[in-house]
Amino acid sequence: MLPAREPEPVHDAAPRCRACGGAGRPVFSKRGFVFAHCSVCDCRFVADAIPDLVYDEGYFGGRSFGGYPDYLRDRELLLSNFARRVRWLRPHARGARLLDVGAAYGFLVEAARREGFDAIGLEPAQGCVAWARRELGVEMVPGSIERASFAEESFDVVTLLDVIEHVVDPALALRQVRRWLRPGGLVVIETGDYQGLLARVCGSRWYYYDPPQHLTYFSRLSLERLLRRTGFEAPSVVGHLGRSVSVRNFSFQLGRALGASPAAEFCRSLARSSLGAVTFGVPDRGNVFTVAARAC
Ligand SMILES: [Zn+2]
Repeated sequence: MLPAREPEPVHDAAPRCRACGGAGRPVFSKRGFVFAHCSVCDCRFVADAIPDLVYDEGYFGGRSFGGYPDYLRDRELLLSNFARRVRWLRPHARGARLLDVGAAYGFLVEAARREGFDAIGLEPAQGCVAWARRELGVEMVPGSIERASFAEESFDVVTLLDVIEHVVDPALALRQVRRWLRPGGLVVIETGDYQGLLARVCGSRWYYYDPPQHLTYFSRLSLERLLRRTGFEAPSVVGHLGRSVSVRNFSFQLGRALGASPAAEFCRSLARSSLGAVTFGVPDRGNVFTVAARAC
């Protein structure tokens, strides 16, 4: 009989996983941030402490630490991307009350309303909340997922699209969502796949590895582990829904990923040019995945 393995020593200096608290092992550095891999849940995360970030309208208008070059100008394109996601999740929803976390200017809320949902958005950027109320007439609440206080079991669906990678404590965020959902309610999460083909090809240059805005990076397996630990069943549906993007947004993001280089400068000037308004479709497969999981 083989002797029992000695437990691995856990050094105080080992970074702690943002998703599960397990010990992490540094794997690479980028722009001064250390990225670690969690040996327990298999996610990757930024090991450094990150101060509270301010998400405001500048984040959506190319005047911040990341975000988007001009989110509002992509309005129709974003509405159609969100409408596709709402139609995808709709057959699995057991009720009409929907909360979109990180709702920005309320486009998903609007898309959900058009599909018959009684939808509301939660968004930290006050200017976005005001715009969505004024221009779309949708219901929006200012605030963050960590501090929001909706009534328990008050939603049938909670969506977090391109959100989970931003939050400082993803487990805390999903426990909040679990409290807000009725039993059998649906959480829908869309995020990058660090084990996808694009991440493997790009390595540390993968555009999702983008602190301080993106802090935790999941694979389908590591996200499933987080969901199961926070009161959800294993995802019942997984999709690669694809999206339309504008040349403006695509070249802005590519320029950020390329850092300081002539190629990056070309991307930035392309983003500002009249070609910026051109749109095209990109597949999510191999890069981004969407899951829907039921609250236990
Ligand atoms: Zn972990």
